[in-house]
Amino acid sequence: MRENTGHRAMAGAIARMPDPTGYREVAALETDLAAAFGARRAVAVSSGTAAITTALAACGVGADDEVLVPAVTVVMTVVAAGARPVFVETTADGRSMDLADLAAKTGPDTKAVVAVHLAGRTDGIHDLVAYTRTAGLRLIEDACQAQGTTTGGRHAGTIGDIGCFSLKDGKIISCGEGGYLLTDDDALADRAAAHRTHWQTSAPGTPAGSRLGVNHRLAEPLAALARHHLAHFPEALALRRRQAAALHHAVDDTPGVVPLAAAGGETPNGYSALWRLTLPGPREFSARLARLGVPNSTGTHHLTAAHLHPACSGYATGDLPRAQATVDTLLAVPFTAHDSERDIEQRALTIRQEAASWSS
Ligand SMILES: *Cc1c(COP(=O)(O)O)cnc(C)c1O
Repeated sequence: MRENTGHRAMAGAIARMPDPTGYREVAALETDLAAAFGARRAVAVSSGTAAITTALAACGVGADDEVLVPAVTVVMTVVAAGARPVFVETTADGRSMDLADLAAKTGPDTKAVVAVHLAGRTDGIHDLVAYTRTAGLRLIEDACQAQGTTTGGRHAGTIGDIGCFSLKDGKIISCGEGGYLLTDDDALADRAAAHRTHWQTSAPGTPAGSRLGVNHRLAEPLAALARHHLAHFPEALALRRRQAAALHHAVDDTPGVVPLAAAGGETPNGYSALWRLTLPGPREFSARLARLGVPNSTGTHHLTAAHLHPACSGYATGDLPRAQATVDTLLAVPFTAHDSERDIEQRALTIRQEAASWSS
């Protein structure tokens, strides 16, 4: 009897789920996303990593082409950049890609630059727009951590040619796993949409079925969930901003833990609170914070400068010293919707106490 009731409940739940064959929820999500972020087009995909690979494919970047990527980044962009990622050194202040190094590394095979807005910060993006326009390169924004950040009144991810976002759990809009691209360029959007689904749709100059694509589709039920979260995005964004402000405020004036203020004209999304550590042994310090319940970039997520990843050959320790120092001294503490005011107070206390005993 109990089993019967269970079956009936499940059948009811399945009947209420969106139609998995129509892609109506995906289409509606794309309309909603474009409107929410002020972009002409949105293309939903299966992850943030898929968004970056799809963006590069839409830009016509092939296996033999070079993509310039900041050395201060996460492994997802390294994977997405494909066979020949070229890592770019950081500016002296550690906040963006060094334009001189970028220019020096731009060669005949270079097709695109990926800007990565770590911790929701877009430092240097306007300089990158100017550089890539002059150099004839595509500019892709990895805005996976920057949902809701604005700079000069525009959303992060709508400034370059294509912006890439993740809908993974932990990002500000989420549906478990998923992602999307934003662009104002119809041809790029059509090519991204075709690539995502085995080129079963057409794009300018390439009829349906004329090329090979991949399956990076977002599933209908996940699109329905993402639409729900998108409808509550303003509250979710306001919460992150309050959390980040509260943690920054409570850690203020802690010697060795220097807050990184937002760049001029930018309103960050509060994805992470962000400091530069001037303490000795910053990675060890961050690892200790992680053990004491303060999640952070290097201690919890083992962030290293990308060129030092074991999979990246041709680079050695010391090759991009500013990028390495930037990653090692970064303290980015991310939030989730579940972090309470008490959790944040506790984290602040831990950071203050540990910093005080570390330096003495
Ligand atoms: C989360 C994230 C991604 C991609 O994440 P997926 O797990 O593929 O959805 C890419 N870049 C950055 C900076 C991220 O934080």
